[in-house]
Order: sequence, then C-alpha cells, then structure tokens
Amino acid sequence: MINIVLFGKPGAGKGTQAEFLKTKYNLIHLSTGDIFRFNIKENTDLGKLAKTYMDKGDLVPDEVTIKMLESECNQYPNSSGFLFDGFPRTISQAQALDAFLNSKNEEISATIALEADDEILVKRLLERGKTSGRVDDQDEEKIRNRYQEYNEKTAPLMDYYKAQGKFYSVDGIGSINEITERLSLVIDKIK
Ligand code: AMP
Repeated sequence: MINIVLFGKPGAGKGTQAEFLKTKYNLIHLSTGDIFRFNIKENTDLGKLAKTYMDKGDLVPDEVTIKMLESECNQYPNSSGFLFDGFPRTISQAQALDAFLNSKNEEISATIALEADDEILVKRLLERGKTSGRVDDQDEEKIRNRYQEYNEKTAPLMDYYKAQGKFYSVDGIGSINEITERLSLVIDKIK
C-alpha cells in the first residue's frame, strides 16, 4: 500500500491535487473536510456537531474526527492505499493514524506539503468563497482563524513526520499540472 498525507494550509490546493493523484496512483481519497460537509448536508448528528466548529474556522475535536476517519478507512479493506487530505491536523490525530495503520501492518509512506504564502492563500480562499458556498471561506476573520489553528496545532506535524524521515515539500504555486508533476516526482521516488 502507499499511504500519502497531503499537507498544507487551507487553500493550498490539497483537494484539487488529490483529484488527480487518486486516479494516477489508484488511491482512496479521504478528505475529512468533505466528509464533515457531507454530514452537514445530510443533517446527521456528526454534521450538526462539526458545523458548530467549522463555521467558526475551529478544528473539530480530535476524538470525533479520529473515529470518523477510522470508520471511513475501514470501508475500504482492499484498497491499494489512501490519500489523506486535511487529516491529520493535530499531533494526537497523527499518533492515532500511525497506531491505526500499524494495527493493519501498514504505515504512512510520505507526507507531502504544498507550500504557499499566506497572503496568496487568503485571496484564493476569499475568491473560492464566492462560489463554494462555504461559510468558512467567506469571511476573512474566519479564514485567519483557520490559519491560526493551522499554525498552533497543525504546523508541529512537520517535525513529527520529519523525525520519521517522511516529510517532503513542494512548491504549491504554479499551474495545476506543474504541481501534480512535482507531487508525482516525490510519490514515484518513495513507491
Ligand atoms: P477543509 O475542507 O480541509 O479545509 O476543512 C474544513 C473544516 O473542517 C476545518 O476548518 C475544520 O473545522 C474541519 N476539519 C477538517 N478536517 C479536520 C481535522 N482533521 N481535524 C479537525 N477538524 C477538521
């Protein structure tokens, strides 16, 4: 199996790139943000709970997020690998993911960050908010809060994966094709 964590700030292009990479490498794409939004649309209890955090740009609590991610993974027992998008976002999530994969004799193959400047990303998200319908993309204060959450809780994951020798980063600015190529170079190397 190859298990890739796509890492990067909100708006860095993880979701866009995941669409290409999942086909190219035959991976199951799991976006925790998408799964939460699906639950909100379906008005499930999980969706109602997640919405109270997401609308403010706060992270959903670890316990809920980890349980949801594990149950999603368990739906694909025969997959040839996962592409994690938006997960893990905290050290506890990363530790839980390692333990979960280890229990199946699997592991993270690589964590690849899409690097981009905050100011470019804020503009990108505000632009996306005009059509995405996402409340958390429409208000600069909420967007800034998401970056604060990222800096405080998610950025430490870089050292977590560096310590395991699994951290890579690519320039996230360029055409979609160029960035897919950069990510593919890393994935081809670790396969
Ligand atoms: P995203 O679509 O990845 O930008 O995620 C949108 C929102 O969903 C985030 O701002 C969080 O509120 C929530 N979310 C998504 N993934 C996670 C996660 N791994 N841990 C906690 N909250 C998450």
